[in-house]
Amino acid sequence: MPLFFPHFDRRRLPLLLALIALLVGVTAAMLAGIRSFDASTRWVTHSYEVQGQIEAVRSALGHAEATARGFRLSDDPGLEAQYREVRQLPLQRAEALLQTVRDNPEQHGRAEALRDRVRERVQQIDHSVSLQTAGRGAEANRDMLLRGVPLDAALERVATEMERHEQRLLDSRRTDNDRSSTRLRAVVVGGMAVSLAMLGMLLSMVGREARRARRHEQQARDAVETLEAAAVQRERLGEQRRTLAAFAGLLHSCQSVDEVLDVAGNALAQLVPHGAGACYTMRASQNLLERHVLFGTRGEEYAEFIRPDQCWALRRGDAHAWDPRRPTAFCEHLRGMTEEQACGICVPLTSQGVVLGVLHVSSRLGEPLSEYERAAVESVGEHLGVVLHSLDLRESLRMQSLRDPLTGLYNRRYLEESLPREAERCERRGRPLSVLMLDVDHFKRFNDEHGHAAGDALLARIGQVLAATTRGEDIACRFGGEEFTVVMPEADVEQATARAEQIRAAIAEASILYLGRELGPVTASIGVDELRAGMDTPQTMMARADRALYAAKAQGRNRVLRVGAATTG
Ligand code: GH3
Ligand code: MG
Ligand code: MG
Repeated sequence: MPLFFPHFDRRRLPLLLALIALLVGVTAAMLAGIRSFDASTRWVTHSYEVQGQIEAVRSALGHAEATARGFRLSDDPGLEAQYREVRQLPLQRAEALLQTVRDNPEQHGRAEALRDRVRERVQQIDHSVSLQTAGRGAEANRDMLLRGVPLDAALERVATEMERHEQRLLDSRRTDNDRSSTRLRAVVVGGMAVSLAMLGMLLSMVGREARRARRHEQQARDAVETLEAAAVQRERLGEQRRTLAAFAGLLHSCQSVDEVLDVAGNALAQLVPHGAGACYTMRASQNLLERHVLFGTRGEEYAEFIRPDQCWALRRGDAHAWDPRRPTAFCEHLRGMTEEQACGICVPLTSQGVVLGVLHVSSRLGEPLSEYERAAVESVGEHLGVVLHSLDLRESLRMQSLRDPLTGLYNRRYLEESLPREAERCERRGRPLSVLMLDVDHFKRFNDEHGHAAGDALLARIGQVLAATTRGEDIACRFGGEEFTVVMPEADVEQATARAEQIRAAIAEASILYLGRELGPVTASIGVDELRAGMDTPQTMMARADRALYAAKAQGRNRVLRVGAATTG
């Protein structure tokens, strides 16, 4: 069976065997029915044959007797010759009848009696014909009457009895025949019905088996497809995991935000092969985020600065995807982009509740990122958040070491570190940068009059004034002694001069409380200069500002002088 039906269920074998046995039974019953019908038909035919032969005996005898009678009446020698021809026929027919009923002892006995009667009657006719031939017609007629008639009657009795018996046999055989015919019909009809039902069952079984086989094949195919898809997925996940692990390893060795963003850009380029993305980092002021291009784009489509409220991811503190086919809340900062550029995800960069920025990645295929890409981008976002935060913490620790304890302002080391960086940044963006050099007037005298500690109090007070009068982005530091420097990124010399004037006035008006006494007033002189793009180094700019400061001192102190004035003055 498995040869024909590779998926044949062995549990169905008994049912199939039963069906085959039933079919064999039905066939056997049909054959038996046909045989029995055949036999009974043969017996009916036999009875008809017997009756026909009895009738044939009668008719042959009648014919012989009629010929003899004709001869007696006409004395025609032709009729006598004809009689000689036909006189054997009745006996032959009686003998044939005897042969036909030889299997039935009763009828056989009667047939013997009939044959004997026929023989006697033929002998009697022979005798009367002989008398006629001898010219003794009257004797012949008498013999016919005296012996022929009783012989005929005896013969007729035997023949009738035999006929009756055969008729009874015929009746019962007909009944048998009818019965076996009915039985045969029933067997044929029943057999056909059973066979058809079995055929139907077999066909349905085969159909079911075929369907089951097809289902199994489909299931097997599906399983193979699922396995293959799972393998591809596993491979992709493995690749993704390796990229993320390498990314995480590199991240934690990064020393600066620029390095971190560079590493993140490379990792994202591998994780989202057709995509592009940028990242915004939060400024110290906490009200503005600054663009950094990460991968797949030169970044023109991204706004240079965004506000935290322009991004749904930052507002909700959770990743926010945007798909043009199922538009939801659209981030304001993506306004100028095409649908393909904007279709992607914003991931907030946070760590321990601190918002450090936001990462935007799009597939650039006009469709959302796949589930895996999205998970990978979110994972990169998480790492970025943590690392940026730790860099921030490290930076703030470093800052602490870069602060002057007396005034709370940055110290000179910090100035030397940050000024080149700020100068470079402003130059890169084509923005101005200015610097103020401030020196307290006659500080030595103040020290001498009120003591060194009062001098310290004055320096601390000036620190407060500077902190209050400068912006978050400005770098106000104690350069050394009673000299201070303020670096003002993105401020030109006019703006810086105005700010210097503001500072000068604030110092002149500041009250210096020391041990309950009001000391002062105190003044300061300020030199101002602006970085000349492409021509200056921070040092040359600082030197010019210093010269301007000394020029201010020389011109009488308590004033602001800008570089032009200093060099000309
Ligand atoms: P000018 O108007 O020309 O600047 O006069 P000046 O007296 O301020 O000039 P000078 O630079 O000669 O004096 C600086 C003095 O500041 C010298 C020093 O004793 C004093 N000084 C430097 N550092 C400190 C400090 O940390 N605390 C105190 N109290 N005094 C300091
Ligand atoms: Mg000085
Ligand atoms: Mg001084």
